[in-house]
Amino acid sequence: MARKGYGRRRVLVTGGAGFLGSHLIDRLIERGDEVLCVDNLFTGQKQNLDHLHGNPAFEFIRHDVTFPLYVEVDEIYNLACPASPVHYQHDPVQTTKTSVLGAINMLGLAKRLRCKIFQASTSEVYGDPTVHPQREEYWGNVNPVGVRSCYDEGKRCAETLFFDYRRQHDLPVKVARIFNTYGPRMHPSDGRVVSNFVMQALKGEPITIYGDGSQTRSFCYYSDLIDGFLRLMDTPDDFTGPVNLGNPSEFTIRELAEQVIALTGSKSKIHSLPLPQDDPKQRQPNIELARRELGWEPQVALNEGLRHTIAYFDKQMSEEGLAEAAI
Ligand code: NAD
Ligand code: UDP
Repeated sequence: MARKGYGRRRVLVTGGAGFLGSHLIDRLIERGDEVLCVDNLFTGQKQNLDHLHGNPAFEFIRHDVTFPLYVEVDEIYNLACPASPVHYQHDPVQTTKTSVLGAINMLGLAKRLRCKIFQASTSEVYGDPTVHPQREEYWGNVNPVGVRSCYDEGKRCAETLFFDYRRQHDLPVKVARIFNTYGPRMHPSDGRVVSNFVMQALKGEPITIYGDGSQTRSFCYYSDLIDGFLRLMDTPDDFTGPVNLGNPSEFTIRELAEQVIALTGSKSKIHSLPLPQDDPKQRQPNIELARRELGWEPQVALNEGLRHTIAYFDKQMSEEGLAEAAI
């Protein structure tokens, strides 16, 4: 569906200058949509969108989603929110506002336009899970007053709002619970584990493992995840989720460090640092629902995704080195 008088579907992507948002925008434009990207550039990078400048199908507005937004679109993907613990803990009050007020503002917009709206939720709604792997029916084990709560509880409240708008206003909503995803266009000093380890290995610096490295995560390559987003958005209105999207292959953080060292051929040594408060001990998605309802399954193995990610950061570093040398 497109607005009256317009041939192409016009899609709003909040958080579109970030890692996932910029890849989503590329896929939407490739398939023929027009995209309006809204971002306050807190963790996003303009360079993630450089290749789109001058493209008539693309428009950028610098805007904070905690304030209302009045635009005309056919669909909304709500991704605005810092995703790295370092960044979401930097200004925790703003993080909760971004999730909660951002959801209220974007849901209000969707209600006025009667359009479909997608929420980038997270595996963090399960907290430090006591059920493993995590299914959508699990209600989670979240500390409401810890350092991660601004993100975890903010995202949980956003889910509540999405389902209340569904029940109260019959709004078509789609909620994806995203598990750790990595790839090109993560910010090099983003603070998340994959970008940290890859940058440290490429620079020959110590690889910082927090705790003993026995905690686990399941790493999904960005292209698989974006494919899941598009499939979820195309499901009939009666399928709302929440649906887990992630790669079920689970690794310890130490195994991740070893893979990064092997793939980069780095001489970096492992350096242990204290485990941050409330760091989840294990995380693995059960993706039966996504398999059944979306026909979706990740295709990219960790070593393959890491190779592409390493090549991206390596290229970034040499381009920056060349730019510095030219000054
Ligand atoms: P990111 O930090 O690269 O992107 C987030 C984007 O949102 C950035 O461009 C940032 O500038 C923007 N933003 C932040 N606050 C904003 C505000 N108030 N108004 C407007 N823009 C704002 O992170 P990402 O990995 O691309 O994550 C995108 C979304 O997916 C987030 O909502 C995140 O919670 C969710 N998610 C990501 C992962 C993952 O592993 N990448 C896992 C779970 C959930
Ligand atoms: N981690 C680590 N070293 C780093 C960054 C992260 O050992 O330099 C660990 C972190 O403690 C957590 C896991 O890696 O157990 C994933 O951290 P990340 O910040 O990527 O995301 P999370 O899944 O914790 O939100």
